[in-house]
Amino acid sequence: SRQFTRPLNDLANQFNTLLSAVAGAERVFDVMDEVEEESDETEAIELDEVQGEVEFREATFSYEDDEKTINNISFHVNAGETVAFVGPTGAGKTTIINLISRFYDLDSGTILLDGQPIYRIKRSNLRKHMAFVLQDSFLFEGTIRENIRYGRLDATDEEVEEAAKLANAHSFIRKLPGGYDFNLKQDGSGISQGQKQLLSIARAVLANPSILVLDEATSSIDTITEMKIQEALQRLMEGRTSFVIAHRLNTIQSADQILVLKEGRIIEKGSHQKLLMDKGFYYELFSSQLKKQVG
Ligand code: ADP
Repeated sequence: SRQFTRPLNDLANQFNTLLSAVAGAERVFDVMDEVEEESDETEAIELDEVQGEVEFREATFSYEDDEKTINNISFHVNAGETVAFVGPTGAGKTTIINLISRFYDLDSGTILLDGQPIYRIKRSNLRKHMAFVLQDSFLFEGTIRENIRYGRLDATDEEVEEAAKLANAHSFIRKLPGGYDFNLKQDGSGISQGQKQLLSIARAVLANPSILVLDEATSSIDTITEMKIQEALQRLMEGRTSFVIAHRLNTIQSADQILVLKEGRIIEKGSHQKLLMDKGFYYELFSSQLKKQVG
């Protein structure tokens, strides 16, 4: 298998290391892409605009030679749809996200974005059209304003605040000493886990990508903040192609498609209603686990 940058799992750690290396100003992916530039296809294309139609065609991938982590997966997502990945730990959910983002490339098969094979799209260009809202928000030492502005470096203060409002983050930020000038420590201390998520949503709002990648938090967050997060996410996902590693029942239920993964294969796909009627693995999962909000 070919690995170009660190996978999603390690991204948050990598982020802080990189940021201190580049004194804060560069976007982390630019730095990563510089390192990997020479492995880009010479004929790599760049897309100015992306609608967000994504298709996996018989995609197969292994981290190690002996075992297929992603085994002949095919699915199609219309621009603007939400896809929820559900399945046991180790099923391959994160790997699919890694492949869509080109942290790894397929061993065989194709992933198409707006009809273009993504291995031909420059990684820096591909990621310009994507935003990530992950369990570990990539926060760095600096002000709240700088942390949000990281989504789009040329954004004005007004645009930063507008994004924070849409992300339901404005009201808590205003209450911090110094407001948007409140300084976050490198470990993100000073604000809660849920507030960190609201900040990473604000950053994604500012980035305004066609494609959104969400890894829903499993940690418990107070009910009010959780509601704010859910509402902000709904708003953010509207009109964008969204890939969600889903742990929350309401996200799963409202997804256009649920892909149920097991051992690197899609074993069931469809809407919540369809999958329940099929009375298969999803139904079992739903009956036993999803009621307790686990995924
Ligand atoms: P999920 O997100 O569904 O929990 P992952 O996509 O993280 O599953 O993992 C799928 C499989 O690939 C697991 O068996 C996991 O151990 C393995 N895996 C994940 N990342 C790596 C890696 N960087 N190197 C080798 N194996 C990996």
